[in-house]
Amino acid sequence: MEDLKKAIRDIPDFPKKGIVFKDITTLLRDPASFQRTVDLLGHRYVGKKIDVVVGIEARGFIVGAALAYKLGAGVILVRKPGKLPYKTHKATYELEYGTDTLEIHQDAIEPGQKVLIADDVLATGGTVSAVIGLIEKMKGEIVECAFLAELEFLKGREKLKPYPVFSLLQF
Ligand code: AMP
Repeated sequence: MEDLKKAIRDIPDFPKKGIVFKDITTLLRDPASFQRTVDLLGHRYVGKKIDVVVGIEARGFIVGAALAYKLGAGVILVRKPGKLPYKTHKATYELEYGTDTLEIHQDAIEPGQKVLIADDVLATGGTVSAVIGLIEKMKGEIVECAFLAELEFLKGREKLKPYPVFSLLQF
């Protein structure tokens, strides 16, 4: 796992001063690291009968789509406002400064479908907790929230309770 951690690049002071950005593009561009990441994450959910994987714009699409392919599941896109063409449910959530909104198609998830939420990095958990709200509204059954990496010191998983959280790499 240490080699996968090393494949993620730290960018200090991005997007603003004081934030150390975990740049996963260096992991994604390395064939062996990308394949191992998807295999390790996907292995956890084989046999769990996941119907759909929800990927969060934009890096969550990469992790989510790869996982869904491995699991034989569908992919659902959660996007920034104004990008999805059909009727949507919206969730607005707090950021450090101001708010942000995410959207999902109203017919994306059927009640009772088993849902895996996927994103690249779990930081404060604000984004994923908004996504959880959308899925609850649609009565999807959230099996777990899966992340490539988790910034443990931000305690994001506390915000996602009672849903289980799994991260492949911890920082
Ligand atoms: P949060 O809502 O705080 O959990 O952060 C949500 C989104 O912001 C995730 O989708 C991450 O991709 C991104 N993000 C937040 N902090 C970082 C960081 N330090 N490095 C890389 N991505 C981050």
